[in-house]
Amino acid sequence: MKDKKVIIVGSGIGGLAAAMRLATCGVNVQIFEKQPYPGGKIRTNNSPAGLIDSGPTVLTMYEVFEELFRACGEAIENHLEIVPEEIIARHWWRDGSSLDLFSSFEKNMGSIRDFSGVKSAQEFQKFNSLSKALFRLFEQPIIKSPKPRLLPMIIKGGGHLKALYKTLVKQRILYDFLEDNFSDPRLTQLFARYATYVGGSPLMSPSILALIWNVESQGVWRVKGGMNQMPKCMENIARKAGAVFSYGKSVDEILIEDKKVQGIKLESGEKILADIVLFNGDPQALTTGLLGAQAKESIPHKSSLPRSLSAYVWSFSAKPTGKKLAHHNVFFNSNYKKEFQDIANGIMPTDPTLYICAQGNNKDPTPSSTNISRFEIIINAAPVPNTKIFDKNEEFQRCKNITFPILESMGLKLSLDPKKEMLTTPFEFEKLFPGSSGSLYGRSPHGINSTFKRPLSQSQIKGLFMAGGGTHPGAGVPMACQSGKHAAEMILRGLNLT
Ligand SMILES: Cc1cc2nc3c(=O)[nH]c(=O)nc-3n(C[C@H](O)[C@H](O)[C@H](O)COP(=O)(O)OP(=O)(O)OC[C@H]3O[C@@H](n4cnc5c(N)ncnc54)[C@H](O)[C@@H]3O)c2cc1C
Repeated sequence: MKDKKVIIVGSGIGGLAAAMRLATCGVNVQIFEKQPYPGGKIRTNNSPAGLIDSGPTVLTMYEVFEELFRACGEAIENHLEIVPEEIIARHWWRDGSSLDLFSSFEKNMGSIRDFSGVKSAQEFQKFNSLSKALFRLFEQPIIKSPKPRLLPMIIKGGGHLKALYKTLVKQRILYDFLEDNFSDPRLTQLFARYATYVGGSPLMSPSILALIWNVESQGVWRVKGGMNQMPKCMENIARKAGAVFSYGKSVDEILIEDKKVQGIKLESGEKILADIVLFNGDPQALTTGLLGAQAKESIPHKSSLPRSLSAYVWSFSAKPTGKKLAHHNVFFNSNYKKEFQDIANGIMPTDPTLYICAQGNNKDPTPSSTNISRFEIIINAAPVPNTKIFDKNEEFQRCKNITFPILESMGLKLSLDPKKEMLTTPFEFEKLFPGSSGSLYGRSPHGINSTFKRPLSQSQIKGLFMAGGGTHPGAGVPMACQSGKHAAEMILRGLNLT
C-alpha cells in the first residue's frame, strides 16, 4: 500500500491522530502544515518562566488517547507523563464565595453542601445522574460512530426516557433547564459554562450539552511539561511509522478533477499528486473557496454555519498574590446573561467571566506568590465577520482595561505590565486558522440538530476527507482525536486495508 499516497493538510490533533493510524497501517502519508510546529490550536508562547500553553489546557477523555496509542502499538505512558488533577476547577464569585469541584462524586456532594446547603447538594445529585445518562446515550451512537445515528440512541434511551424527554424532546435551552434544576444561581452559572467548552452560548445551546459535565467529572488530566507535549509526541510516533512532515508549507488549493481528488498545490505553486487528501483545517475554509473553487462543493455550505465562539486569550508570566489558585480557575461575573448577550451582539463583553490556567513554572507547576508563574486567561468572544478589519491597539487597550481590574477587584493581583503580544484576538485567530471566522470550535452547537449537521469525515468529492474539531463528532482535543480515527478508518476501508 506504500504506492497509495495520502496527503494530510494540517497537523492539528485530528490530522496527527489520522497520520499516526494511517502510517501505522503502512500507508504512505505526508503532512503539510503552514506553521513551523505541530498541534494547531495547541500553541505555546515564550515567557521568562518558560513555554506557556496558550491553547487547550483541560484534557478530558484520556481513554481516547490511550486507545489511539494502543492502536499504533504504543503505550501512552511510555511517552507522556499524564496525571489526573485532584481539583478539576476552582470557581470564584464576586461575593467572595468559592467552590472547588473534584473528579469524585462524593467530594463534590460535600463541597456543594458546604458551599450552598443540602438542597443544592440534592439538586446536584439529580443533575449529575442526568448528565451521566445523557452521556451514555450519546457516546456510542454519536461520538464513537463515524455518522451520528438517532435510532440507536432512541432505542438505547429506553431506560433513560425521562432524561431524553427533558432534554431532547422538550428541546430546552441549557441555561433555562439549569435554572429550573438549581435553586442557587451560582450553580446554574457554573454548569451552564460547560456549553462554552464546545463554543456555545449557554443562552442558546440545547440542554443536551448538560452531558459535558459528565465528561469533566470523569476526570481532568494534565500533561507534564505542558499540553504541547502531546502533538510533539504524536508527530514522533507518526514519523517512526514512516509519515513525512513538511512545516511552513501552506496548501493553497486542493486539486480536483471530475469530482475526484488529484493532489494539492502549495503556496509556492508546487503541485503534489496524491490518491487521497485529508483536510484538517476549518471546514468553512473549503466552503468559502480558500482551498480552490472546486473544493467549495465538497461539503454543504450550511454544514459549518452558524459559527461557534471565539476568544480573547492572554498568555504571560507574572507573580500572583491575593488568591490561592488551582491549575484551572474560573472568576465568574455577576450577570452571566449580559456577557452572552454582548457576545451575541458581536461586542467584547464589558464584564466577562475569566478562565485562568495557572501553570506554575518549569521547576514547580504549582503557582505561588513567591515564584513567577505562567498564565493563560481566556475570555469568550464573538466570531469575527470576514469583512471587518479590527484594530489590535484598540482591542488590546479595551481588553486590558477589563481583564486586570476585574481580577484585582476579586482579590487576585498579577505583577505584570500587559503587552500587546500577550493577547490573541478573535481577528488573529481567523488569521491563524483561515476560514474559521476566529471561531475556535467549528460549527456552533446551537440548535438541537447541530450534532447531525456537522460535516462528516467523507466529503462529496472522491478522495477528499476531513478531520478536526469542525468535523463530526465536534470540538475539543479528544473529539478532534476521535474524528481523526473516523477519517483514518474510512480511508483505510477505501484502500481495502481493513
Ligand atoms: C484558546 C483555546 C482553548 C481551548 N481549550 C480547550 C480545552 O481546554 N480542552 C479541549 O479539549 N479543547 C480546547 N480547545 C479546543 C481544541 O483546542 C480544538 O478543538 C482542537 O485542538 C482542534 O484540533 P483540530 O484537529 O481541529 O486542528 P486545529 O488545532 O484546528 O489545527 C489545524 C491545523 O491545520 C493547519 N492548516 C489549516 N489550513 C491549512 C492550509 N491551507 N495549509 C497548511 N496547513 C493548514 C493549521 O495551521 C493548524 O495547524 C481550545 C481551543 C482554543 C483555541
